[in-house]
Amino acid sequence: MPEPVAERPARAPQPWHDYLAAAKQTRKAAGRWRTRRVMPDAALDFAGNDYLGLAREPKVREAAAEGARRFGAGAAASHLVSGHLAVHEVLEQELAEWLGRERALVFSTGYMANLGVIQALAGRDTAVFQDRLNHASLIDGAALAGARSRRFHHRDGEDLERLLSRSEAIRDASHDAPRKLIISDGVFSMDGDVAKVSELAAAAKRHSALLMIDDAHGVGVLGETGVGCTAGMSAEDVPVLVGTFGKALGTGGAFVAGDASLIEHITQFARSYVYTTAQPPAVTAATLEALNIVRGEPELRARLDDNVALFRREAARLNLPMAASTTPIQPLTLGDEARTLRWAATLDACGIAVGAIRPPTVPKGQARLRITLSARHTEADIERLLDGLERCRREDAP
Ligand SMILES: *Cc1c(COP(=O)(O)O)cnc(C)c1O
Repeated sequence: MPEPVAERPARAPQPWHDYLAAAKQTRKAAGRWRTRRVMPDAALDFAGNDYLGLAREPKVREAAAEGARRFGAGAAASHLVSGHLAVHEVLEQELAEWLGRERALVFSTGYMANLGVIQALAGRDTAVFQDRLNHASLIDGAALAGARSRRFHHRDGEDLERLLSRSEAIRDASHDAPRKLIISDGVFSMDGDVAKVSELAAAAKRHSALLMIDDAHGVGVLGETGVGCTAGMSAEDVPVLVGTFGKALGTGGAFVAGDASLIEHITQFARSYVYTTAQPPAVTAATLEALNIVRGEPELRARLDDNVALFRREAARLNLPMAASTTPIQPLTLGDEARTLRWAATLDACGIAVGAIRPPTVPKGQARLRITLSARHTEADIERLLDGLERCRREDAP
């Protein structure tokens, strides 16, 4: 009798709960486990992105209600089927006119806009250049497109230039220089500083690259008319302009604006546009009203600027280590993650909400409080925040 052939033991599949438990343990050990909490109604909000106070503005809320009454609770289909409603069309036209672009296209969220726009424009054959501190959705968009992202030092035109030149020295097998796409946040979401857009535009022109700016935190806030950090720049300078509605406009959703041919291409090829239900018309109607306020009430931006200036003046007087930002995003970098959480907890005990931002959202050793100002804050609100910060420092002292 021949020896029976030993059967190779089947590899036992790793049970899912083991995988989940291990992932949780690693995260927790790194001190990076996050918890959600229902935001108390009474909390003084210095954490959100409602820079103009439009999320709670009665006119915007009423427009949402009217939008739902008139067009329905949902759009019931994608844009290319039957979900593209009059209210979407009007918002796109108004946006294009306001931004000085031929066309604008509305997406359901900024994350989806960035995934779709980059996937529609880039592929394996595209060299993508991104600022090191770009938003996660931009990094993910390039990954989804199968394009390799080369990350240049934050706001460093020389480093970008070096990467652009280097990519040109390397030719692929067909000896074609790859198409090039340069991507940057406008206002950086965790630092509050602003991209040097003219420098990026010049580099893009020199190297026949396409420039994409995601000004999620600048739209509604910067520029005389509120168009953002690209104010005064044309589609020739900034061919791909993305902005979101969930920040200064107080609603939700996003747009990409540019030349008609570019926007039509994105409409055809962006999978996160084609294969999703159109934005609920209530949100679109609310955004239209928010846009009217952004255009018609520049005093909101003036009040916001005053609040930022007041906060910065007083924070300097208290010797708080504020970053150089002049936008409503005012990071207070504490470095240590536990310390950052302690400060946030102390503020929380004072009824004040600020963002406690830790890696991987920011680089290691740069944990920070992300304090945001709004036109809706009063001087008394800002004084309360400063009192809270003073208490944090007092209780933190050895
Ligand atoms: C918030 C943000 C997004 C994502 O927008 P959502 O509408 O919240 O999905 C994209 N880019 C930047 C720079 C952002 O700050």
